[in-house]
Amino acid sequence: MPCYRLIPSTSQDELYANQLSGLRWTIDHIIKGSDFYRARLAEAGVSSGRDIRSLDDLHRLPVTTTSDLREGYPYPLLSVPLTDVVRLHASSGTTGKRKVMAYTQNDVNTFSLQMARCFELAGLTPEDKVQIAVGYGLWTAGIGFQLGCEKLGCMSIPIGPGNIEMHLQFLTDVGSTCLGSTASMALLLSEEVERNNLADKIKLKKIIFGAEPHDAKMRRNFERKLGLEDSFDIAGMTEMFGPGSALDCPHHTGLHYWADLFIIEVLNPETLEPVPAGETGEMVVTTLTKEASPLLRYRTGDLSRLIPGVCSCGLQMPRHDKILGRSDDMIIFRGVNIYPGQISDVLQTFPETAGEYNMQLWRDDNGRDSMLLKVERSPQADKGNDANLAKAILRTMQQRVMVSPQVEIVDPGQLPRFMGKAKRVEDKRF
Ligand code: AMP
Ligand code: ZN
Repeated sequence: MPCYRLIPSTSQDELYANQLSGLRWTIDHIIKGSDFYRARLAEAGVSSGRDIRSLDDLHRLPVTTTSDLREGYPYPLLSVPLTDVVRLHASSGTTGKRKVMAYTQNDVNTFSLQMARCFELAGLTPEDKVQIAVGYGLWTAGIGFQLGCEKLGCMSIPIGPGNIEMHLQFLTDVGSTCLGSTASMALLLSEEVERNNLADKIKLKKIIFGAEPHDAKMRRNFERKLGLEDSFDIAGMTEMFGPGSALDCPHHTGLHYWADLFIIEVLNPETLEPVPAGETGEMVVTTLTKEASPLLRYRTGDLSRLIPGVCSCGLQMPRHDKILGRSDDMIIFRGVNIYPGQISDVLQTFPETAGEYNMQLWRDDNGRDSMLLKVERSPQADKGNDANLAKAILRTMQQRVMVSPQVEIVDPGQLPRFMGKAKRVEDKRF
């Protein structure tokens, strides 16, 4: 295992002890600082951190939900005096009221630490030049990458999303070695590099991508077009400071999360009971050091699973799998529950497709729902085979997802590309 400067080489026992003391501290902190949490915990019979004997006691604590965040707007879960707050951030969510989170100076420091640890795990050093292609402003993404660079000592190039011309210019003129972006933006940029014949003029070695679910084909595609050494999936959300709560290490067998900062449970979203080890469910997060807006068993809505065992890289930090999507991204089509990730999984099995798709749903006058699935042919595949390919995709969709879409194969590059989070499902039924 490499020798890390910022990632602690804690044993599992030490982590467990850390989590227990962090949980007790958090309980005392929120009872003291938040009327909301104090009342919730009193209902559960908890009046002090000392009531927590072991981590198993976590299961009897109440969960916190996104509607609790909405009710507390604009300072949900606030557990410190407002004068201790040095910053507000909000999620990029477009539905309902934005999720606003407050930060103390210690929270900002922890945010930069978690990002810098991710960079360290990805093998970045102060030699690296990190071109940042995610959003700046109220969102956590751009500022998070920036903080991480400054903490680890990398050079940051804070361009933000969009502005392809400027990205290409800095990739060639500065020789950026790492890009921070969404997977969609990485794909878009790789296609532009190819189109402009710039592959030999850039020095990009790594991409750290996140903020949305990706699929393996898309990732291989931008890795190949840009001649990357490696790429890393980074997880995070505004509620967990921002990006950087977890990163997939160079062994790519799951994302290590910082278990000295968070406890992650995976629960069945209906019963709120833990799922059997290694199975998929909703990630529920408890923060262990967060001061301004701490989370107590917060239902993230994100679906993933915990990966049992220790990673072959030797790092003791536990892992979760890539985030499959949000439980509220689920579509109900003719009584069948579908997650967009399932469509990607089906397309992964067809070498003739590039992985890009667009799904449209509409309802006719008789109230009958229809689905059109447009799929991009890969540049190497034969156009003459489109009809057979469409039939084969339909059959696999019927077997695996239990729906029968109209399947249309389109030319490479025909479907929309995205600079931020991709939007591949257009539900026009409501
Ligand atoms: P925001 O709080 O606006 O930054 O959005 C956070 C949400 O983006 C998370 O709850 C996830 O649903 C999604 N997300 C973030 N990172 C990833 C990732 N690496 N893979 C899949 N989804 C992600
Ligand atoms: Zn690892």
